[in-house]
Amino acid sequence: MCRYRAAFAQSRDAILFLDGDRLRDANPAAVSMFGVPDKATLTSLLITDLSPSHQPDGRPSGLASIARLDQVMQQGEAFFEWRHRRWDGLEFPAEVLLSRLDLDSGTEILATVRDISPRRETEAALRQREQELAEAHRIAHLGGWTADLCAGEVNWSDEACRILGIDREAPGCTLESFVLAVHPDDRERVRAAIEHALNGGQLDIVHRVVDQDGNVRMLRHRGHIQCGDDGAPARMIVALQDITEQRELETNLRRMAAVLDHTRDLVSMHDGEGAMLYMNAAARQFFGLPDATGRALMRPEHGWDRSGLPPETLSVEETVWRVHPEWAARKVLEEALPTARRSGFWEGETALFDAQGREVPVSQAIIVQHSETGEIRQTSTIIRDITERRALEDRLRQEKRLSDSILKSLPGVFYQLDSRGHLVRWNDRMMAVTGRTATELNGLNALELLAEEDRQPTARAIQEVLTQGYAQVESRLITRRTETPYLFNGFRVELDGELYLLGVGIDISERKRLEIGLRRKASTDHLTGVANRQHLDAELKRALAYYHRHGGSSALVMFDLDRFKAINDTHGHETGDQVLLETTARVARELRDTDILARWGGEEFVVLLPETGRREGTRIAERLRRAIEDEPSPTAGAVTISLGVTTFRAGDTPTSVMARADQALYKAKNTGRNRVIVEDGDAPDL
Ligand code: GH3
Ligand code: MG
Ligand code: MG
Repeated sequence: MCRYRAAFAQSRDAILFLDGDRLRDANPAAVSMFGVPDKATLTSLLITDLSPSHQPDGRPSGLASIARLDQVMQQGEAFFEWRHRRWDGLEFPAEVLLSRLDLDSGTEILATVRDISPRRETEAALRQREQELAEAHRIAHLGGWTADLCAGEVNWSDEACRILGIDREAPGCTLESFVLAVHPDDRERVRAAIEHALNGGQLDIVHRVVDQDGNVRMLRHRGHIQCGDDGAPARMIVALQDITEQRELETNLRRMAAVLDHTRDLVSMHDGEGAMLYMNAAARQFFGLPDATGRALMRPEHGWDRSGLPPETLSVEETVWRVHPEWAARKVLEEALPTARRSGFWEGETALFDAQGREVPVSQAIIVQHSETGEIRQTSTIIRDITERRALEDRLRQEKRLSDSILKSLPGVFYQLDSRGHLVRWNDRMMAVTGRTATELNGLNALELLAEEDRQPTARAIQEVLTQGYAQVESRLITRRTETPYLFNGFRVELDGELYLLGVGIDISERKRLEIGLRRKASTDHLTGVANRQHLDAELKRALAYYHRHGGSSALVMFDLDRFKAINDTHGHETGDQVLLETTARVARELRDTDILARWGGEEFVVLLPETGRREGTRIAERLRRAIEDEPSPTAGAVTISLGVTTFRAGDTPTSVMARADQALYKAKNTGRNRVIVEDGDAPDL
């Protein structure tokens, strides 16, 4: 009995004696479990006083307790969970064992109550952790399964079921149901891998599955076999991971690396601390480092691929000093990097040492990426070899020097005009000839350099160049002292989408002088120096045209030396020539500037007297006759001439006028010579 007492007193479970729903006795554990001040208080209570109004299943505690008491009275024992309430109101879950005690004094009920809240908390925490784990697996696309090789059964994790699209509840989950979840094309490979694992190898296989939406996903299965006590394979434990996104990321990175490896620019990247993480193929080749083409830019499992990069590339500063000549290193460290770190970007020209230690001119861009908190996350450098560009620039400079010296040595003025005819470029000679400074010439309308009367035809010629491509024009350039005739030409050229005129002007004043001399020679009789027959013809045409337009009159006198043959015969041909010269000189003396004396042929001459009527013409002819008659030739003695005179008539042509004058002269010859005969004309006698 004592032993029972001790057990009653020391039990950690609450032990209560009930008489119906009343409490008769309780142990100390019960007093502390229900939080009552003492045993007396406890034994004054009903069972319902130690319970909340309702049990978790919703039944009122009173009704539920009556049912349990009935049960114990009928069956002798009842074991169930009950929700209790302490004296201070706190509720707790409990396991209750009711036992019927049939004593001599009557029937009592013994209640053993165990507070199960610690166990419940542990269970809840466990459930929570399981949920968290499942969630983590879901997020990481991680799943797992175990296969009981003896029973041939497979146990899937939730995520494994989801990833593989397997219905866990479906009966007959075997290794084959896993194989059937695999993409048809990969099944044989997966079967072989499982076989390999069952024979003691590792299971490590990447295969495809088709998900519910029909998308192909990449899975990686890794696992091993556990053997039983008999040493035979008993269980297969497998972890699986959906690596679709990871593979895509890797593929993208590989693509990016391929792009960077195929650019001819030198690309490198440094992390926030300045360590070089990456250098593309062009850069590796440039610096003579081992090739890493085709490698992933970054391998997610292993971090950045720094293979082949020398240790000094762990610091930006050291790298800069290593790869740049001193001046460029200073520029990068003192100007470029601070600017890029401040504003994110810098671009400029520096130089690098190549693998052979030669200094190579480069253009360099530095890009700095910052994190949200402003720390440097990454520094990238893109470098382009500009040796060729430099060489081109040098060539361009040489070409320019050449073209400048060509322009300088041109025998004329050079000009480039824009499409409005304004000066854009010119040579030194242009400034020397026009006496204008570069400032004055710049943008000047080229026409302003020309004599007023030549501007319009020149403007037309400029338009012709712009529309037809080429033109030339003679204009007078206003030079320092005077106006000088120039021959200007122009070609149309297109430079950067704009039309320009390029041309050269050549001083043609010397040519002009020669031309004038030639023209005079062409219109002059070589013996006497008076006008020749062609010149007279032209002048006669002009005078007739004028006469027909404006009226008035002109007279034409034709004369011939009398018996000239005899002079030749008597004194010789040279004296004859001399007489011809003397005669023309005397006649010319008698004429006005506007009169034209021409040799018609042999010893026959014509005088055109503009604005001269018949009477005046006759008077002049008479004066000429007398002038010759009055002054004998020093060598040949007396010389006379016969003259025929006519004046213009309506409808006259050069031939008709000449024919009348000739007729009059013929009459003079036939009527004794040394006389003037006037052919009748209808012109008024001025
Ligand atoms: P007429 O009074 O009828 O005019 O007699 P003419 O002798 O003057 O006439 P003709 O026409 O018979 O002779 C002209 C001569 O003039 C013939 C030719 O030799 C000569 N003559 C023509 N041209 C020249 C010349 O340029 N120089 C010299 N010295 N003689 C010339
Ligand atoms: Mg004669
Ligand atoms: Mg004659």
